[in-house]
Amino acid sequence: MASLSRALRGIAATRPRQSPARGWGLRPLVSGPGPTSEKSVPYQRTLKEAEDASAAAQGPSQPLPGTASVVVIGGGSLGCQTLYHLAKLGVSGAVLLERERLTSGTTWHTAGLLWQLRPSDVEVELLAHTRQVVSRELEEETGLHTGWIQNGGLFIASSQQRLDEYKRLMSLGRVYGIESHVLSPGETKALYPLMNVEDLYGTLYVPHDGTMDPAGTCTSLARAATTRGAQIIENCPVTGIRVRTDDFGVRRVAAVETEHGSIRTPCVINCAGVWARAVGRMAGVNVPLVAMHHAYVVTERIEGIQVAMLSVSGPMCKMGLLVTGHSGRCEDEEVAQLQPENMPNVRDHDASVYLRLQGDALSVGGYETNPIFCEEVSDEFAFGLFDLDWDVFTQHIEGAINRVPVLEKTGIKSTVCGPESFTPDHKPLMGEAPELRGFFLGCGFNSAGMMLGGGCGQQLAYWIVHGRPEKDMHSYDIRRFHRSLTGHGRWIRERSHEAYAKNYSVVFPHDEPLAGRNMRTGPLHEELRARGCVFQERHGWERPGWFSAQGPAPVLPYDYCGAYGHRAREDYAYGRLLGQEYTFSFPPHHDVIKKECLACRGAAAVFDMSYFGKFFLVGPDARKAADWLFSADVSRPPGSTVYTCMLNHRGGTESDLTVSRLAPGPQASPLAPAFEGDGYYLAVGGAAAQHNWSHIRTVLQDRKFRCQLIDSSEDLGLISVQGPASRAVLQELLEADLSDDAFPFSTHKLVRAAGHLVRAVRLSFVGELGWELHAPRPSCLPVYQALMTAGAKHGLVNAGYRAIDSLSIEKGYRHWHADLRADDSPLEAGLAFTCKLKSSVPFLGREALEKQRAEGLRRRLVGFTVDEKVSMFGLEAIWRNGQVVGHVRRADFGFTINKTLAYGYIRDPSGGPVSLDFVKSGDYALERMGVTHAAQAHLKSPFDPDNKRVKGVY
Ligand SMILES: Cc1cc2nc3c(=O)[nH]c(=O)nc-3n(C[C@H](O)[C@H](O)[C@H](O)COP(=O)(O)OP(=O)(O)OC[C@H]3O[C@@H](n4cnc5c(N)ncnc54)[C@H](O)[C@@H]3O)c2cc1C
Repeated sequence: MASLSRALRGIAATRPRQSPARGWGLRPLVSGPGPTSEKSVPYQRTLKEAEDASAAAQGPSQPLPGTASVVVIGGGSLGCQTLYHLAKLGVSGAVLLERERLTSGTTWHTAGLLWQLRPSDVEVELLAHTRQVVSRELEEETGLHTGWIQNGGLFIASSQQRLDEYKRLMSLGRVYGIESHVLSPGETKALYPLMNVEDLYGTLYVPHDGTMDPAGTCTSLARAATTRGAQIIENCPVTGIRVRTDDFGVRRVAAVETEHGSIRTPCVINCAGVWARAVGRMAGVNVPLVAMHHAYVVTERIEGIQVAMLSVSGPMCKMGLLVTGHSGRCEDEEVAQLQPENMPNVRDHDASVYLRLQGDALSVGGYETNPIFCEEVSDEFAFGLFDLDWDVFTQHIEGAINRVPVLEKTGIKSTVCGPESFTPDHKPLMGEAPELRGFFLGCGFNSAGMMLGGGCGQQLAYWIVHGRPEKDMHSYDIRRFHRSLTGHGRWIRERSHEAYAKNYSVVFPHDEPLAGRNMRTGPLHEELRARGCVFQERHGWERPGWFSAQGPAPVLPYDYCGAYGHRAREDYAYGRLLGQEYTFSFPPHHDVIKKECLACRGAAAVFDMSYFGKFFLVGPDARKAADWLFSADVSRPPGSTVYTCMLNHRGGTESDLTVSRLAPGPQASPLAPAFEGDGYYLAVGGAAAQHNWSHIRTVLQDRKFRCQLIDSSEDLGLISVQGPASRAVLQELLEADLSDDAFPFSTHKLVRAAGHLVRAVRLSFVGELGWELHAPRPSCLPVYQALMTAGAKHGLVNAGYRAIDSLSIEKGYRHWHADLRADDSPLEAGLAFTCKLKSSVPFLGREALEKQRAEGLRRRLVGFTVDEKVSMFGLEAIWRNGQVVGHVRRADFGFTINKTLAYGYIRDPSGGPVSLDFVKSGDYALERMGVTHAAQAHLKSPFDPDNKRVKGVY
């Protein structure tokens, strides 16, 4: 058997190594369609071996029922977890259909690693749930051991930045009670004697991480689900999805078809792994994922790899050595409790490899820059694997040998290379498809479908039973992608490639993708680019991030990191600017953003916000629909504009937006459709446009409101002018009186601007006097140019979203999906003023808010300022009187108050309501990368708390 180093040398000898720019020769993007051979995976048991191989030929393992409440398609990690959680929620009549046998797709050969810490609060919660299911719940319920091994996890930092990233995770972990320790190289060596620590800055050790077993997990899930009444039918491929159109013209799932009969059902969950695209096609639903080869190799036995440490729970000591994070000395009685344990799994992000303990050996895998795409994986593929392509895999060997040098002399026992699904942002695809009611996605798990399976299965089940998930699942919800992108092959492929290749990269706050750009550009795109705009990508749109004085930095076509024969970009201004901001300190462009912010506060700034979603809600029932959908009273006289939330039935905030009431008119124009009855113009944050669109449509369909929702996002631009000089600038352009009496705050009018008809809305995102101009696309450029000419003498500058982020947090305005989410109520978020609770008008979420108000708020959003000059970006732990009471959701620097600001929800550790007195009476500190910084709590924005500036009072 070849050793790892011989494999490496063999390849080096046969293929001269070329520059990274050219890669190792041309590689076709697409590989063969099916499995090339079968290999053995390193598990003691797979379900293939556990059952009769001839069963497949015998047809379905059970007769099909005629109807089902829910049909889950696919019996891998996700299908089994979802079925189990449906059964646990009491859903009767749920059926899982598996084409072959359980686990036969990707799940059977997984590496099964579970890490508890990720840079997202929701992901930490999802992972915690999976861990609880496999380490405790299933065993208690079924008496079966799932195969869970708690051997701990060790993250390797070869740079200060990497260690900073881990310290951020450690601070977040503190909020959730996840034990973790930053270890020095010496301490790491004591823990993992076979490790090379010469080049280390340090490590993060998480003792309760571990390893899942696919067969054991899925067998236990199946047992628990069927005991609760769910049905699992194997050897039964789904061949079609029948769709019906209801009386309201809405397409809904009607039945699932198989060669052995059909099952009538209103609800299908697509958990078909890499085959999810094909299942989606059966229903006319786009499933934006690609299948790629993903691999690890299993070594032969390694002397001394298995047992290497002793630990106690809580503060950790090992071999009498005190480690960082321990608050006191290692006492004798603690030493007496020391237990021998398995060596932890290792994630060496900088080398892009992981090392999983595999009995007395290691499994070595990772993420390459040139992964092999599979166009389609054959329907016949079951318990199959591909031949490992050593040209692709070799890059992991160097890293693995560097980290654990004994690998150089260790043989390879087997290779495991299978198909796995990857998505454009390396996050799963979940939730109801916008194209078809009753068709849910539970796929696209980006090599994390074991560890995320429990948390995601639970959320999917909740979603189906209650209409929305319990947690904020927006990052996984299919509605995070605009519908124009989910069927766009090039975009899916490019973005999925980049996300895969960057999977182990440090997650920096201001990073942007280089792949799949320029998909949606606004009317000012060329003009702003020429003026030095550095764009950000959101929802496929290019929106201005900030403006560089160094001239244009255009976003160029994707270079696939130089893989597949593409030429890697060497002198790429945009890439260079992004790279300069790879820091957890204040970024080098901090002062540029400062200038934009201070110009807005001192004179005026123009923001191109054309990426906003712009919808019209019109028709006979539009008023009824608006009353129900919006938490605020938006049915004020035409000409009014109202900031409001949209809620779900639990009182969580699905969106915040502005709604402008329109006067009815028979004449259609780009600025308003012709309509009878009532009409509203909705402006929503561009990154959440599809989410809003789908939410509103779903509510209209469910309540059968007779009205139209019209999407004009591409047809209209949005130019916002903000700042004390905005009135003077705009008065030169607009044929309208802009005085407070004639054009008060929160109103809108159709007016002429530089000869073009626009809708001017007096509003502010940044806490200043200002107007938004909503203009037909062709009018945007001439209006903008006239604006810049008129504004020159008033100090008008271009500014981008980085400035908006800073200005808006300084003013205390919320950002949806940051400090305001689907799991936060407006009462908790300090937005009670957006809720018409004093009226008797029913609205979606009202009952939940009333209950919450009666019971008292269990958590509350609080703003903090920090006097020390430290950068913060979110996820920092919030300490109150020496106890952790929450974490920061959103943080930024406020240039006018010259302080870091942070917002987060706090709880009372005693479990009681969080009163205003509780907030005011605490001593606070924010923990950033393991270091605490004193903070002041604010219940009102520290900047312009009396809201004078938006009213034009300076
Ligand atoms: C090499 C490798 C290492 C990995 N390591 C890890 C790890 O360490 N940790 C981790 O969390 N994840 C890891 N993963 C990823 C993880 O294994 C997957 O994300 C997970 O198994 C996917 O589960 P699934 O249920 O989505 O898909 P699958 O397991 O593929 O299940 C889909 C099922 O759908 C069935 N199906 C398809 N079409 C139909 C149809 N028409 N009708 C009926 N049934 C159908 C298939 O037969 C299959 O059984 C790894 C993956 C690979 C390849």
